[in-house]
Amino acid sequence: MNDPNCIFCNIAKGLIPAKKLHDDEDLMAFHDIRPQAPVHFLLVPKAHIVSLYEATAEHQAVFGKMLTMTGRLAREAGASDGFRTIINNGRVGHQEVYHVHMHVLGGPEPLGPMLLRK
Ligand code: AMP
Ligand code: ZN
Repeated sequence: MNDPNCIFCNIAKGLIPAKKLHDDEDLMAFHDIRPQAPVHFLLVPKAHIVSLYEATAEHQAVFGKMLTMTGRLAREAGASDGFRTIINNGRVGHQEVYHVHMHVLGGPEPLGPMLLRK
């Protein structure tokens, strides 16, 4: 269920501080420590699911709950005119923390293209 060496499991247990916007038995949301936009928080299942590669049918409810609360949390965080969600997975996805999480990024100004064009 949790990994003692995982940063996000330790945030879930209250062992590492975070600026939380939401906390319930399934999910937590907290501000990213290195924000890349005026609004930048992470929405994180409490269960130690490594990435979407490891997601299975038993996780459907938590991922459904995660997506359906995103708009309300984004609006409450100040992103009321649009936002972007990103889930990085594995090496090519440039995942840094191997406990699945969804970035929520917002303006006020438009965020620009989804990926840098070469
Ligand atoms: P990713 O590349 O999708 O794995 O991104 C991991 C994100 O977690 C990065 O944006 C980090 O800034 C963020 N992060 C890492 N440690 C913490 C922490 N202790 N509190 C909040 N955000 C964190
Ligand atoms: Zn974890």
